[in-house]
Amino acid sequence: MKNKIPFFKFEKKKSTITNIKKVINSGWLTTGDQSRIFEKKFQNFLKVKYALSVNSCTSALHLSMIANGIKKNDKVVVPSITFVSCIETILYLGAIPIVIDVNTDTNTVDFENLKLLIKKEKNIKALIFVHLSGYPIKLDDKKQNFQKICDNNNIKIIEDCSHAFPTKIFEKYSGNSNNLCCFSFYANKTLSTAEGGMITTNNKKLSDKINRIRNHGFDRDAWKRYTNIKSKWEYDVIDMGFKYNLPDLNSSLGISQLPFVLIDQKKRENIANIYYKNLSSFKYIILPKRPISNSMHSWHLFRIQLKKNIKISRQKILAELAHLGIGTSVHYKPLHRLNYYKKKLGLLNKNYPNSENIWKSTISLPIYPSLKLRDVIYICKNLKKVINENI
Ligand SMILES: *Cc1c(COP(=O)(O)O)cnc(C)c1O
Repeated sequence: MKNKIPFFKFEKKKSTITNIKKVINSGWLTTGDQSRIFEKKFQNFLKVKYALSVNSCTSALHLSMIANGIKKNDKVVVPSITFVSCIETILYLGAIPIVIDVNTDTNTVDFENLKLLIKKEKNIKALIFVHLSGYPIKLDDKKQNFQKICDNNNIKIIEDCSHAFPTKIFEKYSGNSNNLCCFSFYANKTLSTAEGGMITTNNKKLSDKINRIRNHGFDRDAWKRYTNIKSKWEYDVIDMGFKYNLPDLNSSLGISQLPFVLIDQKKRENIANIYYKNLSSFKYIILPKRPISNSMHSWHLFRIQLKKNIKISRQKILAELAHLGIGTSVHYKPLHRLNYYKKKLGLLNKNYPNSENIWKSTISLPIYPSLKLRDVIYICKNLKKVINENI
């Protein structure tokens, strides 16, 4: 029988259908008590003060920039290797994206590059820090203190935690921060509500602002007006807002998965360890950097890199693996290579040597809780075979 190993597969939990039915039978489908419960549980998990649900991480990034006061012509730094949301939301505000090359080890914001940029460019207002793959990075590390250098230069950090649920370093989860942290619950993320997102922070002022603007700038919840007979019909609009709220239907999907976050992380970690075990002596690839002790890698992605000494192209490898029933992906085609942004911002490949190397050689292998041990071994065996046959 032919193998069929998709790159990703959503797995429903025991309570998924019951919880969805409950929402449908309640008579109220969009944002209401389920979204409040989801936020509360998410907040408790991270031990963060505020968690605000939204309908995507893209919305979360957009709102976070507004809450941080980013305006027209402000400069916002973004790493080249990330999803397009990070740069498009900068343009929503008429702000100016500054795309920087990434670090070869972590594949995200490079500390030295950032330091040089801050010396060169005046008036940088924000940095989008991407926790790529869910690899744990301490933003206030003594040696590479991203937080301090940004604080000292009045640069707000917005954390893209789309891959970082759950990521932890020294007892502190990603998202438990004074910065605004943006999570995604898109279809293929470690927790999925089909579409959805969450903004977390310990900063009350930022949280209050986001609470207002995520839903039209209303002064009170719409659902209370409709579902509570005694509630007054009247509302006011006290800020310019957006339609970015997360419906209860989606939140109920999130609530069903929250009790399994750590169990599922462990399962992905086990898969990562099987990849390491089977591939670490294979000399044609570079495996992802292992996390330091006292930390938790979410293992949202397992990104390997092909070494330069192999003749077969990545394209060919991916096609051969697909032929063998193995789904793969590439994270990401860098921002400086996306036609629209390349033209609009005049980005040149030669200014992004690290990103170029990474992007040309990277492959994301399947990693999700329901992936079977024998499937991981099948993937390793065939990856080696495809490459070995073409040396
Ligand atoms: C998925 C993802 C996003 C976008 O999330 P949505 O919820 O689809 O808007 C943004 N940044 C990164 C790094 C992502 O992986």
